[in-house]
Amino acid sequence: MAFLMQEIIRKKRDNQTLSAEEIRFYIQGVTDGSISEGQIAALCMAVFFNDLDWDERTALTLAMRDSGETLNWQHAALNGPVLDKHSTGGVGDVVSLMLAPMLAACGAYVPMIAGRGLGHTGGTLDKLESIRGFDIFPSPEKMRDLVRKTGCVIVGQTGNLAPADRKIYATRDVTATVESLSLITASILSKKLAEGLDSLVMDVKVGNGAFMPTYALSRALAESIAKVATQAGCRTTALLTDMNEVLASSAGNAVEVREAVRYLNGTYRNPRLHEITLALGAELLVNGKLAAGRDEARALLQNTLDSGKAAEYFARMVHAQGGPADFIETFEDMLPKAAVVKPVTAGRSGYICAMDTRTVGVAVINLGGGRRVASDKIDHAVGFDEILPIGTQVAADTPLAVVHARSEADWQAAATAYRNALTVGETAPPERPIIYETLTA
Ligand code: URA
Repeated sequence: MAFLMQEIIRKKRDNQTLSAEEIRFYIQGVTDGSISEGQIAALCMAVFFNDLDWDERTALTLAMRDSGETLNWQHAALNGPVLDKHSTGGVGDVVSLMLAPMLAACGAYVPMIAGRGLGHTGGTLDKLESIRGFDIFPSPEKMRDLVRKTGCVIVGQTGNLAPADRKIYATRDVTATVESLSLITASILSKKLAEGLDSLVMDVKVGNGAFMPTYALSRALAESIAKVATQAGCRTTALLTDMNEVLASSAGNAVEVREAVRYLNGTYRNPRLHEITLALGAELLVNGKLAAGRDEARALLQNTLDSGKAAEYFARMVHAQGGPADFIETFEDMLPKAAVVKPVTAGRSGYICAMDTRTVGVAVINLGGGRRVASDKIDHAVGFDEILPIGTQVAADTPLAVVHARSEADWQAAATAYRNALTVGETAPPERPIIYETLTA
């Protein structure tokens, strides 16, 4: 049915409910260019102020998902569920690199479409590009074939996946309409649901390194995503997890890949990172019917680590996507190294009481490990590792972290920023939860 775009905008401006047909008309117009950028912006602003109800959000998500290519696994004869995890982004959030092969080792198929660093947060694609030869843009056919053969892939978003989202996001970015829960929900889910998933788990970060500025807003986003995705046919659980400190023991690109391999081969597992990885994976295994309950799911995931199977799946994925066949054995030598690698010390004794996580993320960008503008080339070698967690007792000469920098001057700036980002106090801080809430539809 043909509508008038200005009438659809007027309706939302006047706080009325849009029908699924009207929403599809809008997305069709965004996709084929028949509605103007001004009209895209006007509707986004009307939604920003008057919001969308659950049915409208679901209709918008589905229309945006269907604006481009979607993956369909029905004829692929897979003998397991198609699962994925998505995170709102954080600092030192390297979960995807371990969780994808762990899930695949449990019998799931994981066609993970990941992103680049955004704002102060790191990006899974940037991390993977620390691995020589790793191809994050295989053709759609190759991607499908790799999922079938290796159980998991981690790739970038191709041009024709949810193209309406790309156009709307670009307009939102310059019209102060990014911060709408409805629009964020549809934007994230349109891309994820285009993967043809049976189940999704969403890691919504909470805290001073999180994308959403308050607990209440993170919770509202988690609830919205769980509800809309499930209503759209993809069983989804959302976890609210702590981002008041760097999640892993490292923040950067190659340093996080190194941590992921050391996690998989059992050399070192940061306890907070491990807990979140198991919790996210357990939701997927239960929702994907690969485990009867969370305890069984966690045991299965742990077993993929203890048996070395997850490490094998990771190695296979790296090789299948163009990386070295022996990466899991040779990663220490293969990963790029920074010229200056030196610790930053506490400078005073006490307990690490708090971390300004956003500042640490920005320090990684300033070291060259992230982008200031989209065209920037990043330095994969730089960042921080051996990061001490909040609660650790330190002496003045205790290394708080090791800084990997291109030059002495960069090291000095990063060391100062890092030290200033931490609060060292007289008494140990109270323990914080790692997972605040688990929300289902
Ligand atoms: N990430 C997205 O993909 N979309 C948004 O709107 C916000 C964050």
